Amino acid sequence: MPTEKPYLLTDQFGRKHEYLRISLTERCNLRCFYCMPEEGIELSEKSHLMSHEEVISITKTFVSMGVKKIRLTGGEPLIKKNIEKIIVELSQLPINLGITTNGILLEKYLHLFKETGVKDINISLDTLDKKKFKEITRRDYFDRVINNINLYEANGFNVKINNVIIKGVNDNEINDFIELTKDKNVAIRFIEFMPFDGNKWNTEKVITLKEILSKAEEKFGSENIVALPSKKNGTAKNFKINGYKGEFGVISTVSNPFCDSCNRIRLTANGSLKNCLFSSSETNLLQALRNKEDIRPLIIKNLKLKKAVRGGMTSDEDFFDPEKNANNRTMIAIGG
Ligand code: SAM
Ligand code: SF4
Repeated sequence: MPTEKPYLLTDQFGRKHEYLRISLTERCNLRCFYCMPEEGIELSEKSHLMSHEEVISITKTFVSMGVKKIRLTGGEPLIKKNIEKIIVELSQLPINLGITTNGILLEKYLHLFKETGVKDINISLDTLDKKKFKEITRRDYFDRVINNINLYEANGFNVKINNVIIKGVNDNEINDFIELTKDKNVAIRFIEFMPFDGNKWNTEKVITLKEILSKAEEKFGSENIVALPSKKNGTAKNFKINGYKGEFGVISTVSNPFCDSCNRIRLTANGSLKNCLFSSSETNLLQALRNKEDIRPLIIKNLKLKKAVRGGMTSDEDFFDPEKNANNRTMIAIGG
């Protein structure tokens, strides 16, 4: 009997990593306060960033090792030079390809996504109030984002709306977002606010799954909130209001981390492999590729170092300690 080959991208806890998130750029056309420090970030030198050919080459290596799902992110992935070529070439690989975007430029790429069959489009939107949008993002693109959400929903894409929920900022809009799912086939994903270098995070500002559900119950009644089956390796707990077209979910990285079923690895825009959103060690694959080295052993070695929980911050005390959790790149430089 032939024995099954061991899966290459397995870590020391037996977790199989099939999902690669690629940050295409550190730059962005918004300045969301929770992601990008007010003073901006120091950008990598251009020559240290992956070119379009290097993105494709590194990605092909990951796919040859077993990666089956890829999400493009950033910074804002749609401002990456040669984004069309990247999407066309990646869409030819045997993977499920999706993108996370702030939505500003989406109308320009509708045909590209249709032609390449990329259906999974996550769009970030934290408020339904135009004025608040400008305060959160420090830019005035609310109408474009809303129009593009409507455009993609109407064209049958799987639209998820990412909403970073922060106490005192947008927690009064939880039910307004859920109400959007009445007539729109979109999935709202409330994301707990996470600590990163310079984003003025503190525990008080985190709204948990429990709090979101209790707000939803006040408006919709607990009997009308249906829990949906969890998806394999999914990070969200999902729900639906009886009779509504769309659904909503909560990604509770802070209050209830989903590390045991984690199947994700990340490639930063400057070609470094991060085995966890919270890990502070990285492996520079781009330099190795440029030196014509085989990057596979480096990938395997990096994965073997992956910690069981949140980059090694096992206890909540560690995770909530600004000395420890701030010792990480900003979200914009990792790609959420
Ligand atoms: N620019 C794109 C966008 O905004 O969708 C892609 C990159 S962004 C870094 C990816 C996701 O990370 C977004 O949904 C964003 O809301 C989320 N994010 C950024 N900073 C965060 C934080 N501190 N806590 C939780 N989520 C965060
Ligand atoms: Fe830009 Fe996205 Fe970060 Fe906002 S969340 S600053 S849109 S990368």
